[in-house]
Order: sequence, then C-alpha cells, then structure tokens
Amino acid sequence: MSCLFCEIVEGSIPSTAVYQDEQCYAFADIHPQAPEHVLITPREHIGSLADCIEGDHALLGHLLWTAAQIAHAKGLTNGYRVVVNAGEDGGQTVDHLHVHLLGGRPLTWPPG
Ligand code: AMP
Ligand code: ZN
Repeated sequence: MSCLFCEIVEGSIPSTAVYQDEQCYAFADIHPQAPEHVLITPREHIGSLADCIEGDHALLGHLLWTAAQIAHAKGLTNGYRVVVNAGEDGGQTVDHLHVHLLGGRPLTWPPG
C-alpha cells in the first residue's frame, strides 16, 4: 500500500527538509497554517498515534524532543504549538504518524 509520507521519507516525492536523523524526518508542510509549520514523522510507517504500541515509547519521545529542538533552532522564543491529529475525529488526513510544529504567530484555542 502506498503512503505519501513513506514516499517523502524515501525521497521519491520531493519535500523541503528541515531536520533528519536515523529515526525521523522533518519537513515543511505544503499548506502552512502558520509562518513556521513543520511536520516531524518517523521513518518507519506507523499509521497513527492510535496504532502505537508500548515499544514505541522512545520513538514518540524522540518526535516531541525533535519538535522542541526545531522550535529552538527556528527561534520560536515566544512560544509554539505541537499537535498530533489522530483518526477521523482528530482531523488526520495522512495516515502516517506525524507531529505538527506550528509557530511564528499567536495561535487561538480551542481548535476547530
Ligand atoms: P493531518 O491532517 O494531521 O494528517 O496533516 C497532514 C498534513 O500534511 C497537512 O497539514 C498537509 O498540508 C500536509 N501535507 C500533505 N501533503 C503534503 C506534501 N506533499 N508535502 C508536505 N506536506 C504535505
Ligand atoms: Zn507511511
């Protein structure tokens, strides 16, 4: 089964890389919702946060840690938001786990 973000991680679909290591790949969102909008995704295919297993603890921590490091590198000293949409009600549209990092403007709450 083809997966958009697996193809982005592999490089067969182009993206603007922000950061990468052996566990994750971070790239610019194609439809940014804020001046800074980065997606941090595991290299391995995991469909959703809801599909994670106990053995994914460290990977999930790494994705959050990476989001914070990117926010720091981008100078988002006034704050930022990290979001994971999961499943239909969560508004997930790409079925490969990813963390959104949004910053560079004040963000309202609650989300829609
Ligand atoms: P979600 O709705 O949480 O599943 O987020 C999916 C995100 O992927 C959306 O913010 C899209 O704008 C983004 N997106 C979809 N296709 C691409 C692409 N080819 N390159 C970069 N971001 C993408
Ligand atoms: Zn995938």
